[in-house]
Amino acid sequence: MSRDYDVIILGSGPAGFACAMQSSKFGKRALVIEANKKYLGGTWINTGTVPSKALREAAKTIYEFNRRFGDEKQKPYERFRMKDLLQYKNEILENENRRVKDNLIKNQVDTVRGFGRLLDEHTVEVEDHLGDTETYTGEYIMLSTGSIPKEPVNFEIDDDKIFDNQSILELTHIPRRLVIAGAGVNAIEYASTFAAMGTRVTILNDQEDYLTFLDDEIKEVLINIFKQQRITIRNNVELEDVDFNPLRVCTEVCFHEIDHPDNPEVLEAEHVLYLGGRQPNTGQIGLEHTSVQLDDEQFIKVDKYYATHAKNIYAGGDVIGFPSLASASFSQGRLAACHMFSIPIEEEPSEIPFGIYSIPELAHIGMTEQEARKKEIDITIGRAYFKNTTLADISHHHRGLLKLVFETNSLKLLGVHILGERACEIIHTGQAVLAFNGDIRYFIQHVLNYPTYSEAYRNAAFNGINRVNKAGVKYQEILQRDV
Ligand SMILES: Cc1cc2nc3c(=O)[nH]c(=O)nc-3n(C[C@H](O)[C@H](O)[C@H](O)COP(=O)(O)OP(=O)(O)OC[C@H]3O[C@@H](n4cnc5c(N)ncnc54)[C@H](O)[C@@H]3O)c2cc1C
Repeated sequence: MSRDYDVIILGSGPAGFACAMQSSKFGKRALVIEANKKYLGGTWINTGTVPSKALREAAKTIYEFNRRFGDEKQKPYERFRMKDLLQYKNEILENENRRVKDNLIKNQVDTVRGFGRLLDEHTVEVEDHLGDTETYTGEYIMLSTGSIPKEPVNFEIDDDKIFDNQSILELTHIPRRLVIAGAGVNAIEYASTFAAMGTRVTILNDQEDYLTFLDDEIKEVLINIFKQQRITIRNNVELEDVDFNPLRVCTEVCFHEIDHPDNPEVLEAEHVLYLGGRQPNTGQIGLEHTSVQLDDEQFIKVDKYYATHAKNIYAGGDVIGFPSLASASFSQGRLAACHMFSIPIEEEPSEIPFGIYSIPELAHIGMTEQEARKKEIDITIGRAYFKNTTLADISHHHRGLLKLVFETNSLKLLGVHILGERACEIIHTGQAVLAFNGDIRYFIQHVLNYPTYSEAYRNAAFNGINRVNKAGVKYQEILQRDV
């Protein structure tokens, strides 16, 4: 039966966009349906990845300028206006939006605005913003409808005193004091961004710990940096209520330690940023008319090719859950398109890099030291402190550590953990060595540009080899060892 399109894609975030682009490169007719009236690009461009990184970049520039050339006593919020930061962010969003649109047009991908809902496994009904509907049929369907923020239980987001990741992007001034509810990656990033502008940040975390996937030593360094930036993290606390106190002209945040519910505490702040996790957009897209299956948390179940239980329906991005990153979503969208059109593909590698855009950045790939030790692998650690690299010195980015986890006997690289300037970029060198099963001699035997932050790889490799040497293995034997 002939259908309107080879593939219909619900949602224009990174998973949907990548699926559309790849499908069009295969000569397939693709339609992208986007519910947002104004913008393509989803959380990726409009409310999540790009705007938060744009604000961070602006805040970081201010912070660095102030630190190097400014008056230390003057807080950035006394000198800079939120309006300028927002303008910086908005210009970037406009560019990124335009680029997505241009790419879809250039590649002859059709787009339709409206809310898409499956009527059966090949038919999508689209309701536009005036309530009119149109149906389209597709051989394949890609579900990439993303996720939305979870609502708080004890209070409401009013977009005035209490913000979520969307409304914080329209904040009109730099707050003196901010409480962030939640301690996930986005919370840590926003804490850093505001602290860089002089805001006093308190993070209220309802879990016992946070960022538990990080290497312990790297996390210790991060905690120390946070202390210097006057970011306070309270673990194991429950938020009770948020209220405006007109007499004291402040927002009062009432919470208690989970173990001491009868002992409430109050924090005064200007605003609260609620970042309490996200939930997938799978509730209203007509999945009941298909054999697509969901897990207990309403994420779509997929196999390693991103195929759902319905054989012509694929899914990628935040709707399938972990890792819920734009980076991974691009790859998932592309791989789904390859599989649907029987283009031979490699599987997604088991190790992907993770980046946290705190100030400074964090990035890691592979095993942490504690994971390797738990598996009883004989490992050695190579460390390089950023303060000992020339570029870090030149650029005043002294804070940071690059850590290599490698197998002692074979020198095989098992993990890379970085906290420091450009960590999210330089992690990819480690990723390449890991992907090719390389060992840490790579960083010594290859010429690296100088001065660069990548120099830390060489320093860390030398440091690791010195440790093996000190443990009794002759230096020459280490360098000539066959793996
Ligand atoms: C504050 C924040 C910062 C982040 N920072 C990073 C980062 O630095 N790096 C990183 O890799 N990731 C980051 N992420 C995560 C990243 O934004 C998401 O993982 C990614 O955007 C998910 O992509 P997606 O393809 O699932 O679609 P999304 O980007 O979520 O977009 C989904 C689209 O589908 C549309 N849609 C929904 N329902 C329908 C429907 N029924 N019909 C038609 N359209 C529909 C929506 O309007 C939306 O446009 C961040 C997220 C947040 C919130």
